[in-house]
Amino acid sequence: MAKPLVVITGASSGIGAAIARQFSNEGHPLLLLARRVEQLEALDLPNALCRRVDVTDAEAFRGAIQEAEAVYGPADLLVNNAGVMLLGQLNTQDAAEWKRMFDVNVLGLLNGIQAVLGDMTARGRGTILNVSSIAGKKSFPNHAAYVGSKFAVSSITENLREEVADSSVRVMAIHPGAVDTELLGHTTNPDIIAGYEEWKTAMGGVLVADDIARAALFMYQQPQNVNIRDITIAATRQP
Ligand code: NDP
Repeated sequence: MAKPLVVITGASSGIGAAIARQFSNEGHPLLLLARRVEQLEALDLPNALCRRVDVTDAEAFRGAIQEAEAVYGPADLLVNNAGVMLLGQLNTQDAAEWKRMFDVNVLGLLNGIQAVLGDMTARGRGTILNVSSIAGKKSFPNHAAYVGSKFAVSSITENLREEVADSSVRVMAIHPGAVDTELLGHTTNPDIIAGYEEWKTAMGGVLVADDIARAALFMYQQPQNVNIRDITIAATRQP
């Protein structure tokens, strides 16, 4: 039987790209979204529609999903993975960085949810998987605004899960610890970057993106009446 459509945001690098490869290996058609569309295309996955979509643009997000559904049928899984981490000290950080994190990590995720939720509840099936962070459960130095955005992701996930449980739609979250991706590279403060790199080295290295992608696949592949609400996953030596 043909596998259903999987939509993945932020699939142009890191965790999103690894999730795209895992689901493609399982035979799912994909809608891959990010701003760097050339990196989506470079993944070179079969049955993958690649679209340049900024998740803060609700109309473009919804339009791309409608386009993919016209080809592959209803989206059965949305992976809300796109995110940015701009670490900084609150007394000096540029407010534009706080806004970007909340726009992408929180409002972008809500845009994705709104684009698929009506159809999923009407069909009585579907899965929304939000990529939060251990920073959605506990604090870290210089992370205040990022932690705030990820606590929002985790609490939105839990609230929505309860709201739509009766319709059999699954809502779940992954909380990764540190993973080796491009994420840290967007932070502008070199001292904070150096401190983070030291912390990673001190714990003997961190996870790779595929560690998270395997967890995502495992969560999705359970029967529809089984909802793994949360997987928290980190390097064994991460405190
Ligand atoms: P990357 O920086 O490698 O990937 C981030 C992805 O988000 C990119 O594909 C990027 O694509 C996309 N993105 C950023 N802004 C937008 C936007 N406005 N619209 C659409 N896509 C956007 O980092 P990771 O793979 O590590 O991050 C993926 C998720 O995992 C994030 O939500 C992050 O917070 C979370 N996470 C990561 C951890 C880590 O240690 N790496 C730990 C815990 C959670 P493009 O630039 O092409 O638009």
